[in-house]
Amino acid sequence: MNSIELKRFWEKVKEELIGSLPESVHPWLYSLEVSGFDKGVLTVVTGQAMARDWLKKNHLDNINAIVQEISKNENARINIIYDVNAAKQIKKEAEKIHKKELEIQLKEQAMDNLSYMQSSANLNLKYKFENFVIGDNNKFAHSAAMAVAKSPSKKYNPLFIYGNAGLGKTHLMQAIGHYTIFNNPKLKVKYTKTDDYINDFISNSRKTNNSIENMSKFNKKYTNIDIILIDDIQFLESKEKSMERMQHTFDTLYNKGKQIVITSDRLPNDIPKLTEALASRFQMGLMVELTPPDLNTRIEIIRKLVNDNDINAEDDAIKYIAKNFSKNIRELEGAFTKVCAYAELNNKDFTLNLAKEILKCKENENNLTFDKILDVTSKYYKVDAKEIIGNARNQRISTTRQVAIYLCRELTNQSFEAIGDFFNKKHTTAMYSYEQIKSKIDTNSELSIAIREIKQALKVI
Ligand code: ADP
Ligand code: MG
Repeated sequence: MNSIELKRFWEKVKEELIGSLPESVHPWLYSLEVSGFDKGVLTVVTGQAMARDWLKKNHLDNINAIVQEISKNENARINIIYDVNAAKQIKKEAEKIHKKELEIQLKEQAMDNLSYMQSSANLNLKYKFENFVIGDNNKFAHSAAMAVAKSPSKKYNPLFIYGNAGLGKTHLMQAIGHYTIFNNPKLKVKYTKTDDYINDFISNSRKTNNSIENMSKFNKKYTNIDIILIDDIQFLESKEKSMERMQHTFDTLYNKGKQIVITSDRLPNDIPKLTEALASRFQMGLMVELTPPDLNTRIEIIRKLVNDNDINAEDDAIKYIAKNFSKNIRELEGAFTKVCAYAELNNKDFTLNLAKEILKCKENENNLTFDKILDVTSKYYKVDAKEIIGNARNQRISTTRQVAIYLCRELTNQSFEAIGDFFNKKHTTAMYSYEQIKSKIDTNSELSIAIREIKQALKVI
């Protein structure tokens, strides 16, 4: 009998004893601690001599009968030992075990709850803060997301995360959900793709029967929450009825002081036919951008995958992949996975040569820097590059500056913060310059020719 079996066995015996012996002896029974059951002898220890004497003298046959019945051994009997220290010791041990069991039970319960909540919140287990590699491209967005996770509805509401495909928007957004479920389990989290929201809305408004009831169910589903995570809001484009409904959902949550997190592959004003009302709501909190990671961050992301999957990969192979997949982390991961799978299936090592053989990347990746773009642009317009970085404001210089900023954004995908820094300007100025050129490029032929010629000089077309 191991210690757990012994404990169970004794609990049964004790329960039976309490049920069949008079109440006056219950305190004696409670003083008994079980110490072992060996060759039909159940040894119990008490710290009270009276307990041993009284039970032995008056109830021994009764007790033995119960031990025999429960152990299904007709020769079994009890041995009651009086030993103050041993009794104390056993009691302490028993309490320890009990506490541990309780802890395990609670932990299991908590894990059950956690995975239940994660799945009902609709979250992917991989998308946690722990798995998110921080780099210059995302540290601002990361700290904003962390701030929201730590104090929902108190910091930035809504938090609007935007950036191109595959740069970690969904990951970062869901990390807020996981963090909340783990640290603040009373809060209700819901992740929804905008597509699913729209389909759900359409199917509920179409049902002719009970349409009022259906709509109220729909509203409850999306507003009876503490934190809503709405992914890829750009899919609302041109869908008027869904926009109206989204505005209602947004207002209901916002007015109840609930946290809203939204992602989009572009700024609200670039979403076709997005109503002014919604655009202004999305801009009301904090907008953060995710941009492509620099080389070191990409290396870090692959190293993390290598470690997590316990793979032996040549460092040069890691660097080769990181160098060649710079615009999209999903593609970066895809390239890694492809080499991994090939190595595993063919029993080969993860080497630089293997990576080259599988991925066949074009080596001459365009290595455009802000410097190079500024250099070529200022030569084209025949102005001094130093003037562009400085504060000069004449028409020619400011056009050159705006075009250079536009091209930096367009050709490197770097953030407006980084571009602003380079040109000694605020990030809002960089953003404004970019928008200016972008809005004129189709109608101003002189400008569009200039941009084409500069791009040719940069060898990107
Ligand atoms: P998006 O929603 O912007 O299209 P995702 O969030 O789906 O991008 O990210 C694409 C893939 O890249 C995911 O597998 C995600 O885990 C991974 N990823 C993105 N950013 C990071 C990061 N900073 N660290 C580690 N993995 C990342
Ligand atoms: Mg996404």
